Amino acid sequence: MSEKEKSAGQLLKEKLLRDPKNAGLRLSDKELAEADAYCEDYKKMLSACKTEREFVDWAVPVLEKHGFVPFEAGREYPAGSKVYVNNRGKALMAAIIGKKPLSEGARIAAAHIDSPRLDLKPSPLYEETQLALFKTHYYGGIKKYQWTAIPLALHGVVLKKSGEKLTVAIGEREDEPVFCVTDLLPHLAQEQEARKLADGVKGEELNILVGSRPFRDDEVSEKVKLNIANILFEKYGMVEEDFLSAELTMVPAGPARDVGLDRSLIGSYGHDDRVCAYGEFTALLAVGAPEYTDVAIFADKEETGSDGNTGMNGKYLAYFIEDLAQQQGVTGRAALSASVCISADVNAAVDPTFDDVSEKRNAAYLNYGIVVTKYTGSRGKYSTNDASAEMYWRVRTLLNSAGVVWQAGDMGKVDIGGGGTVAKYISRLGVDTIDVGVPLLSMHSPFEIAAKADIIQMHRASLAFFEDK
Ligand code: MN
Ligand code: MN
Repeated sequence: MSEKEKSAGQLLKEKLLRDPKNAGLRLSDKELAEADAYCEDYKKMLSACKTEREFVDWAVPVLEKHGFVPFEAGREYPAGSKVYVNNRGKALMAAIIGKKPLSEGARIAAAHIDSPRLDLKPSPLYEETQLALFKTHYYGGIKKYQWTAIPLALHGVVLKKSGEKLTVAIGEREDEPVFCVTDLLPHLAQEQEARKLADGVKGEELNILVGSRPFRDDEVSEKVKLNIANILFEKYGMVEEDFLSAELTMVPAGPARDVGLDRSLIGSYGHDDRVCAYGEFTALLAVGAPEYTDVAIFADKEETGSDGNTGMNGKYLAYFIEDLAQQQGVTGRAALSASVCISADVNAAVDPTFDDVSEKRNAAYLNYGIVVTKYTGSRGKYSTNDASAEMYWRVRTLLNSAGVVWQAGDMGKVDIGGGGTVAKYISRLGVDTIDVGVPLLSMHSPFEIAAKADIIQMHRASLAFFEDK
């Protein structure tokens, strides 16, 4: 339709009102193909990295290949230097030193690399009715019933008595066994089905089936447990006491998969929040010589409240910025106060089957790009980083000028629930911070859904942010 055929109302609408469009309409065939191609590598990372440790183990060699070196406090780093800090193999920070001094602030992008799962208890192995099982304590917020009767893989690290560190990943390859939480057959589940959904499967019922064949010796009891212990010893040199200090966890087994006949979506464990971590990571690798110092942080423990020395509520980001600033004769707090941050975490997309929990005018949708969220929290914005008008303006201007597909989105209707992420732990350092992330369906489930057209926007947004002038 040409300009002169448009009615006054149409013209006024164009001038005054927002017109959000699905990425399928906004993006060209070429751009959609780029998104699909980008997601092939994303799926590989997602299939290979199911824990924070695995993400760090995967990321560090890639950083080094791109010229990043371990950061040493007290050394001088000229503009263009690329450094990283590996925080105990569980959290990671990488930075490119900018041309401008840190007195003008850094550009910080933060995501987390841990995901909800079933951690083994310190003393997990037991035998009951001649089956061997592991006790678990779930990590992060899960709907427990979703974790039964699906194949699980065992991931983590074990420190043996000698101090030797064993890295474990069993159940990902076709020729490896998997594990599972058993559930009751419907025929005998009358009482279970009368429970509230939240108690349908209880925490102490998330026990993992790990074996059933006895060790053949009539002189001992718990023969099935002994046989499993024997396999662990023969294959891995492990004894039962090694479990006490181990970090072992059960995660959904198998790779990330395309979803839908049009293959527009990816179903996988752990989009939250490796989908944002990956976008941040690939963007940092693509940055040339930035004006401002760029810092990407990949944090642990977000799913349990960001505590501990690898969680975002720890001090390591502040210390890192302080160390970087000190070399330039700038105080850490001056650098932090002048910095801006995108806190990159996933958000809830409207689910067509459960759309009554969303306030549709302010909700995020799959394929409408990354979600900018002014505030998280719940019940009267309690416990939130509420981004300032200035910070929001800055980010929307940046995203618009870079042509990033983005949308504004709150999580759920007022008073129906809520959530939050690392933004408040970064903003408390004096950093202007805003939430930006990829919308998901089935968040925190063993099979979360993200749209390919949205996933690449996280990369594009992070790149625009890092290359901001
Ligand atoms: Mn998250
Ligand atoms: Mn989460």
